[in-house]
Amino acid sequence: MNISILVFGSHEFLATLPDQIRYTTAFSVEIIANVIQAVSRIQTAPPDIIIVQASLDGSMELCLWLKDQAKLSWIYCILLEDRSQQIMERSKNGWEWELEMTSTVLKQGADAYIWQLPEENTNSNFADSTLNHDLILAQLTVGLRKAKKYRDLIRTNDLLSAIALADSLTEMNNRRALEWDLPRQIQKSRDHLSPMSLIILDVDYFKKVNDTYGHLVGDRLLQLLCNRLRQNLRYQDTPFRYGGEEFVILLANTTGEEALIVARRLNRLVSEQPFAVNNQHTINVTISLGTASLEADDDDQGISLLDRADQCLLQAKATGRNRVISSDYLSPVSRLKAASS
Ligand code: GH3
Ligand code: MG
Ligand code: MG
Repeated sequence: MNISILVFGSHEFLATLPDQIRYTTAFSVEIIANVIQAVSRIQTAPPDIIIVQASLDGSMELCLWLKDQAKLSWIYCILLEDRSQQIMERSKNGWEWELEMTSTVLKQGADAYIWQLPEENTNSNFADSTLNHDLILAQLTVGLRKAKKYRDLIRTNDLLSAIALADSLTEMNNRRALEWDLPRQIQKSRDHLSPMSLIILDVDYFKKVNDTYGHLVGDRLLQLLCNRLRQNLRYQDTPFRYGGEEFVILLANTTGEEALIVARRLNRLVSEQPFAVNNQHTINVTISLGTASLEADDDDQGISLLDRADQCLLQAKATGRNRVISSDYLSPVSRLKAASS
């Protein structure tokens, strides 16, 4: 795990930090003294820990800003108090004042608040300086522990999302993934005033494959079919397993005419070459396909768009299978049916 620490402070400030931070190879340390640069660095490559020099301009604003960022608030923020005014007040007013200061700073967004010792102390009292460094290192350990936990959590979360959105047999995106992606692609298409289409396809007489060769061969055939589809799609096409032997392909930035070309190519790719499911069986199958393009009055969820493509698929089945029907050529009755379903 490559732990990174961002020091928001001057080079003189960095020199006051424990050697273990400055000379380590266990994690990467970067120093920035400008708040705008620090914000930009945090946004582009979030560090695990930030050590903030309190006397630097924008130090408290940086802590506050960090805790306001939903996606960055996990970063462990250690504020080191080096303002001479505060240090003077502290020695004058005692520990009650220190407690008050600490609670204010923690409320404002820091995860830890450590007082830097005044210079005369660090020079004259070696024991004090070591204690102060020990405290900084202890807080660093807390931050590292949190960073590790957070990273483990993110990894588990990514894994669970992948499992939840993938079909276990074909490893294709599943229907849940489609329900998540379709409204987003529609939004994107409308925002950019770019066309968008989809294909829905279904294997012809698949039941016969199962009945003749058994379900395991049927499963294998589905896997091979998915591989063939996947390998022959363009980069902007996203395939989903919609149900049993039915698939949806979202075609971003694609007109109805282009969708028809893609669908016809897939149709040929499946019918022209049989599938070698095992040493004994090579099976010929065909697919039927329906295509539709996003229209201005389609709903945001993509239900009417999917319905239109589905009507085309039904017509492809009804008119002989192994063919593509585009909603541009859908009969008025089928169009009406799609609009009212
Ligand atoms: P049509 O041309 O009208 O689509 O005929 P069909 O036989 O393909 O259609 P039907 O809906 O009657 O049958 C689909 C079959 O797909 C039924 C089901 O058992 C099978 N099936 C669905 N999912 C799977 C799967 O994951 N593995 C296997 N082996 N079969 C599946
Ligand atoms: Mg079928
Ligand atoms: Mg089916």
